[in-house]
Amino acid sequence: MKFTPSKPALTGETLGSLTARLEERGEPGFRARQILDWLYKKRARSWDDMTNLPLALRAWLDATFRLMPAELVLNKQSGDATDKLLLEMEDRSLIETVIIRAPQEGVGIDHSRKTICISTQVGCAMACGFCASGLAGLKRDLSAGEIVAQLLHVCHREDGHTPRAREEIASFDNIVVMGMGEPLANYDALIRALTIVNADWGLGFGARRITVSTSGIVPKILKLADEPLGFRLAISLHGATDEVRTQIMPVNRAYPLDKLIPAIKAFSARHGRMVTLEYILIRDVNDSLDQARRLRAIARDLHAHVNLIPYNTVDGLAWVRPSITRQNVFADVLRDAGLSVTLRREKGHDIAAACGQLRLKTEQDRGDGGASPPPEGG
Ligand code: SAH
Repeated sequence: MKFTPSKPALTGETLGSLTARLEERGEPGFRARQILDWLYKKRARSWDDMTNLPLALRAWLDATFRLMPAELVLNKQSGDATDKLLLEMEDRSLIETVIIRAPQEGVGIDHSRKTICISTQVGCAMACGFCASGLAGLKRDLSAGEIVAQLLHVCHREDGHTPRAREEIASFDNIVVMGMGEPLANYDALIRALTIVNADWGLGFGARRITVSTSGIVPKILKLADEPLGFRLAISLHGATDEVRTQIMPVNRAYPLDKLIPAIKAFSARHGRMVTLEYILIRDVNDSLDQARRLRAIARDLHAHVNLIPYNTVDGLAWVRPSITRQNVFADVLRDAGLSVTLRREKGHDIAAACGQLRLKTEQDRGDGGASPPPEGG
């Protein structure tokens, strides 16, 4: 399960770690910033692009680091709504990075909100019953460099608007850590990656515009609350009672609602910002009026925003999304109580937008088994 790359990725280095490596080699301290500027500000795609570095240093960098730890193998576009990048790592593992454009009401597509959704693991161990990413279990964690590289690939894509990585990233409204994997189960790499994404020597993207989404690993939520960078938090709730939630999310056995809810409260108290509760609507599983009322009580108690997501069909899973009428009835229970609610109309259905499905299809096509089975109790 552990993967050791042939060389570490430059995209996983911080200003501090790169400076230390260069100083060991007797290079002046300013070189680290120069190199990171080439990567994040100027969008260098090869060592030879870094024209103000001495040739010997470029050769050493080439021998010591991989500039990018992933390659783009597929860029699928679904009209104006979604772009999916399928990336291949050195060990042939596949991950997905998604660009979502959600038009704002009354405003043309050019003024829509643009979000990048990144992955943190290859596969996932959480085994949520509705999710394509967890179907084959966890293959491995991504390194910090592999997490950051996803954003550089977004900057490098052909229809990018500016040749500078930082400016390209700045044209997005949000980065959400909601792709494949459970981010809080790969905690150290996640924080290192987001530190690089946020830093002025990195991509310079504001922590308040970065949302970490979790299935609810309570001790790690509390740890995240103590991080100096104030990221936003989204919780995949998907059930408003332990009985319903456990049925579709095994993590609820270890961290049931009476542990999860206080942890969310502690997080919002620390950051003074609204947490988002994500709630997939699955017919006859969690879409009853009783669940709606209980969700209303939880959201009120937490002062949370609720994001309702009609279940997106996953090949091989038998769940069904409720009718539009039923979705609206559920949403109205929350709205009538004055809560902040969005009912997402799923984007990119036609390109297998639900989490992990593009990777699954590609692995099936190329006949890879690859991933290990879900853990005991999952
Ligand atoms: N592990 C983290 C982040 C990845 S899953 C977490 O659990 O939050 C992020 C989101 O993907 C889930 O909350 C859910 O909203 C969405 N998702 C997964 N499978 C889905 C499906 N079949 N239909 C709709 N949304 C899905």
